[in-house]
Amino acid sequence: MGVSVLSIIYIIGAVTFIAGLKMMSDPASARKGNIIAGLGMLAAIIGTIFLYQNEDGSLLKNHIWIFGGILIGSVIGVLAAKKVKMTAMPEMVSLFNGLGGASATLISLVEFNHLSDLNFPAESATPGIMAILFAGIILGNITFSGSMIAWGKLSGRVKDFAFKGQHILNILLLVISIALSVYITSNLQGANTTILFYTVFLLSLVYGIFFVFPIGGADMPVVISLLNSLSGLSAACGGFLYDNKVVFTGGILVGAAGTILTVLMCKAMNRSLTNVLIGSFGGSKAAGDKKEQGSYKEISLNDSAVVMSYASKVMIVPGYGLAVAQAQHTCHELQKMLEAKGVEIKYAIHPVAGRMPGHMNVLLAEADVSYDKLIEMEQANEEFPAVDVVLILGANDVVNPAAKSDPSSPIYGMPILDVGLAKNVIVVKRSMKPGYAGIENDLFFQPKTSMLFGDAKKVLQDLVGEIKSL
Ligand code: NDP
Repeated sequence: MGVSVLSIIYIIGAVTFIAGLKMMSDPASARKGNIIAGLGMLAAIIGTIFLYQNEDGSLLKNHIWIFGGILIGSVIGVLAAKKVKMTAMPEMVSLFNGLGGASATLISLVEFNHLSDLNFPAESATPGIMAILFAGIILGNITFSGSMIAWGKLSGRVKDFAFKGQHILNILLLVISIALSVYITSNLQGANTTILFYTVFLLSLVYGIFFVFPIGGADMPVVISLLNSLSGLSAACGGFLYDNKVVFTGGILVGAAGTILTVLMCKAMNRSLTNVLIGSFGGSKAAGDKKEQGSYKEISLNDSAVVMSYASKVMIVPGYGLAVAQAQHTCHELQKMLEAKGVEIKYAIHPVAGRMPGHMNVLLAEADVSYDKLIEMEQANEEFPAVDVVLILGANDVVNPAAKSDPSSPIYGMPILDVGLAKNVIVVKRSMKPGYAGIENDLFFQPKTSMLFGDAKKVLQDLVGEIKSL
């Protein structure tokens, strides 16, 4: 009876994951989708704790340990989520990815030790089970250590690091880990099984570190979506090992969604997935390189307000600085004010603007900016020639022409928003400092471009005031 009720709960859980994921594709229903999928997971956890039956038919007993763990984890999770600043969300997502990977590794570790204590009985330690167990260890460890380095890089604590021959070392680490896993699976009772198992453990952990370390410039988004996908696949291994359909479905959904995102990011960045896997792109080789740039010109608040008020079409380009300034609501206010004057407003969204996939979409949705005002990069590039003013709010790398013209640049090859095609460009940022990739931006020195220095929120508030008084 318990088992069949549990199976029904698992099916309901899996359905809520799929429905929740579908709802997350639209900002209007995303919050509800998240809650529905969360409730499905809660039902699956409670059901497992009280209804799961061991092989001898007994129920789970360690309730104090289980609820103790859930309580500690929930308190830390809720406090961390409440405390985290919106601008630190990308780092938090990296931490979550990493912890997902660590959980998958722990499941594989526990199961290996369990099978090893039983001396690898043929009926339990089948090649299929051992292959899944090693996949869990390798994928889980890469996700964990890679995500920790990504977290460090996103929070500015870890710098890019590369050395000669690093690609070869990365390939070797991965190939040896896989070869040892195959060897152990076919020689289970060998005396060195445990030592070799922990060698795979260590090598995959080191691979995760070295594969993310050299990736810099503007290429981190691809790695972040790949780590997200690996966290799902490693969780699916855990679901497979325990024959737990809800964990398996959840893992596969995250893995599949992450893989689609990785492919989209690779396309957006014009990079190959093979290069991502051996950690061989980006880097800071050109970061900080300085060359003579000439001079730039500034524009006053009043002039900016006038130019935008009398324009027929204004394109706003949001970037990471808009998120830092938390200026999305003021930006929406400016949009409404200009629209009331008959100006057509659109937002040009670059796929890697901000610090996490979809960052700008989430940010603008938070301020209730209508989704149909947002247009993708390709369409924006087609529309720029008919745009009177491009207002760049805290964006830098995603509008840097070096991506098209400078082969030595770490962002070379990345498609950018071609804002230079428009009639006027106004850039709002606090200084001439570079963006995430650490490189100068020629756009700021071009004749069509004017700089409007200041914190994005303050500048937008002042612009709203100026436009009101026109
Ligand atoms: P950038 O990081 O290139 O530039 C952001 C700009 O915002 C800076 O030049 C900064 O200049 C300005 N800024 C910061 N704070 C403020 C503020 N309060 N008010 C006004 N301006 C501010 O951002 P982009 O969005 O253009 O590009 C994203 C970059 O991040 C790309 O290189 C991308 O590859 C990378 N990345 C993206 C990820 C993703 O998944 N989307 C993940 C990891 C990395 P100043 O200091 O002078 O104000």
